[in-house]
Amino acid sequence: MTDVALIEQLKALVEPGKVLTDADSLNAYGKDWTKHFAPAPLAIVFPKTIEQVQAIVRWANEQKVALVPSGGRTGLSAAAVAANGEVVVAFDYMNQVLSFNEFDRTAVCQPGVVTKQLQLFAEEKGLYYPVDFASAGSSQIGGNIGTNAGGIKVIRYGMTRNWVAGLKVVTGKGDLLELNKDLIKNATGYDLRQLFIGAEGTLGFVVEATMRLDRAPQNLTAMVLGAADFDSIMPVLHAFQNKLDLTAFEFFSDKALAKIMGRGDVPAPFETECPFYALLEFEATTEEVAEAALATFEQCVEQGWVLDGVMSQSEQQLQNLWKLREYISETISHWTPYKNDISVTVANVPAFLHDIDAIVGEHYPDFEIVWFGHIGDGNLHLNILKPENLSKDEFFAKCATVNKWVFEIVQKYNGSISAEHGVGMTKRDYLTYSRSEAEIAYMKAIKAAFDPNGIMNPGKIFAL
Ligand SMILES: Cc1cc2nc3c(=O)[nH]c(=O)nc-3n(C[C@H](O)[C@H](O)[C@H](O)COP(=O)(O)OP(=O)(O)OC[C@H]3O[C@@H](n4cnc5c(N)ncnc54)[C@H](O)[C@@H]3O)c2cc1C
Repeated sequence: MTDVALIEQLKALVEPGKVLTDADSLNAYGKDWTKHFAPAPLAIVFPKTIEQVQAIVRWANEQKVALVPSGGRTGLSAAAVAANGEVVVAFDYMNQVLSFNEFDRTAVCQPGVVTKQLQLFAEEKGLYYPVDFASAGSSQIGGNIGTNAGGIKVIRYGMTRNWVAGLKVVTGKGDLLELNKDLIKNATGYDLRQLFIGAEGTLGFVVEATMRLDRAPQNLTAMVLGAADFDSIMPVLHAFQNKLDLTAFEFFSDKALAKIMGRGDVPAPFETECPFYALLEFEATTEEVAEAALATFEQCVEQGWVLDGVMSQSEQQLQNLWKLREYISETISHWTPYKNDISVTVANVPAFLHDIDAIVGEHYPDFEIVWFGHIGDGNLHLNILKPENLSKDEFFAKCATVNKWVFEIVQKYNGSISAEHGVGMTKRDYLTYSRSEAEIAYMKAIKAAFDPNGIMNPGKIFAL
């Protein structure tokens, strides 16, 4: 069948005007935040109901057309990229919080609800949705579930997975499944809900999600501490964790701070220059908690781990300190960074970081490396900035060599090649560094059970 005929059939499945094929839309909806692959979808379709999603999936099976689920397209692993004539299924018109249950503290969301929208909804109810990161204003709940998104509060609240009470999914066969039905306790065999979380749209579509909400945190207070060297960061984490329940523990290097200062719109935390910085946050519920934080800070200074520090005294200061960390991704995107999102156990972080720094520094001394990340949960973001004199292709080719070394070190420490950004297309060739051949065979068998014709996001997680 010709492309034109396929598009006509697709149009019949949804409301008028809900299939787009113009060049701008194909370009915009065919890619995510990664810049490695040229977008080339056949069309973009916007279902408004679950029945329409099922009709699209059944049609795709009949016509052997590949489908790419699309959220806010803020993904960093090319998992929502359509580069091979696929139909992109976008949820911009399924974007409502459908209901709220005050006793279970849950909100039923359509997949296109923006993460920030759910955070604000929770706030209106006097509650809190704790999954948060710099792209929360654009990413969608469907995409967050597709990637099992983490972010800046994982140390206290865990990943998106922890907040999914129930899911409605349309499988790659077109079946509608209601998974876990929002229960807290449910010991009835395999929890299929968990398989769809982090599946990157390879098993089917999330078409509705019941998300748990939490009590609102009280008087959040942040500290930014300047560390004497990298080895001091982990004892600082340890010292604070022994005294306080942290809601965040992030870190960034002097190079990351320099880029933020270069923007000119964020105040410096303090004047002392330090090689690394930690940003920690806690609920200052009582005077005693704030005093414990200050006493721990002093202890860290006495030990020589910390050179300087500042504690927020107002909501504005809290926000300004967070900007130092939250603006990094967006700010360095100007230098076409090669991004790696890797994790090891917390105890292994210092040795792991030294190994990687040494190997990249030795082979590519001209590359500027910007470290930052959610170090409190062992997750580091290694960003290599493109030198101006290298073309994008040359740069990415060199980074592919770096990748191998980085992932060998990840493997040595039993770590993960993708802590929270997913595998998509950018990490799929390296999956064996984190997953055994036997595990991958089981994963492929699971995909075949839900998507026997391979129409769901082919080429993501595994090679085509
Ligand atoms: C500045 C910046 C900072 C970031 N910081 C973080 C961070 O701290 N932590 C973190 O985890 N991530 C972070 N990210 C990455 C990204 O925001 C997350 O991966 C986010 O969860 C992606 O959501 P999305 O809606 O944009 O999904 P997309 O990029 O559109 O899609 C992601 C995956 O989900 C699938 N998908 C989308 N919708 C559905 C659906 N309805 N059903 C099934 N599958 C679906 C897609 O096919 C794809 O595989 C950051 C990104 C940026 C740009």
